[in-house]
Amino acid sequence: MRVHSGRRNLALVLWFVAFGVTSAATTSAADQWDALQLQGREIVPGTRSKFPFIPDRSFEASYLNMPVFVARGENPGPTLCLTAGIHGDELNGVEIARRLFAKIDPQELRGTLIALPSINAEGVRTGNRYLSDRRDLNRAFPGRSGGSVASIIAHAVFTIVQSHCDALVDLHTASNQRANLPQIRADLSDPVIRDLAINFGIGIVVAGSGPDGSLRRESAKAGIPAIIYEAGEPFRFQEDEIERGVQGVENVMAYLGMTERVNQETSDARIYEGSRWIRATFGHGGFFFPTAKLGDTVETGDSLGHIVDPLTDASIEVISPIAGVIIGMAVPQPVLSGYALFNVAWHETD
Ligand SMILES: [Zn+2]
Repeated sequence: MRVHSGRRNLALVLWFVAFGVTSAATTSAADQWDALQLQGREIVPGTRSKFPFIPDRSFEASYLNMPVFVARGENPGPTLCLTAGIHGDELNGVEIARRLFAKIDPQELRGTLIALPSINAEGVRTGNRYLSDRRDLNRAFPGRSGGSVASIIAHAVFTIVQSHCDALVDLHTASNQRANLPQIRADLSDPVIRDLAINFGIGIVVAGSGPDGSLRRESAKAGIPAIIYEAGEPFRFQEDEIERGVQGVENVMAYLGMTERVNQETSDARIYEGSRWIRATFGHGGFFFPTAKLGDTVETGDSLGHIVDPLTDASIEVISPIAGVIIGMAVPQPVLSGYALFNVAWHETD
């Protein structure tokens, strides 16, 4: 059985007690509210700052030259961390973090927002999902101070997360040639994480603790409640997915007592136990033409599209083996056997 809580979950709960509903500026915690020290900088209460992760501009250190955005609230409260661009081609999250931060008024903020909006900074500039050493950064956490570039960056980021974050939202999109319905993914067996996921307020929540070495999974293991917002496609900015993400983070901040709740619609959570990829079956590669769309509810046996073999003109229907909702899918393209076509979230629960 997984052991819950850890230090951060407890810290978050204590912040709720002290600051969650009413301002408690006269408590002892408030007396200790002071400048935040981060990466050699000092961010005093009521101010915000953007600065490079490290001032070292050498060839060797350039891969750590990611931007850091910090807003230190005038009043005490929890620290929410936002991470994006771990996969350099996933741009929606990069813009969500920028747009959200631009809206923050540190004079009105309770607590601290730390955003690392472009963690694979080189990948964001060049449209590269992976690092310059061709590794997937989101399998390298918690990392270590030596070793590959991936493990060095992971370690640098994870050190900030462990030292400062009471909760974490990691922003992603689908991978190459695929699209995701806006959704939250989270380890719902942890009640603190579950509440964060539901209070993001955008509807679909899919259970799962994430792969080994992902920032979300390793943060949760270290006792820092973490969720992922997944929305849209890589390589582009998508207005609806970005705006929904900004709203979701604002909802989380209000839930944590960092801001007043603004008047905006939140969707009731639709919680799914898991998801499963439907793939092109063996020997049936060809040109993929979907008919089902993101967000469609499907039943077992439904046709979701077809794959045409361009040499024989044989057409194979893609049949859903399960009932659920389509939360991710491939765009129309040539596909080979085993290629992941549709991601179906299954078993909606209460
Ligand atoms: Zn990603």
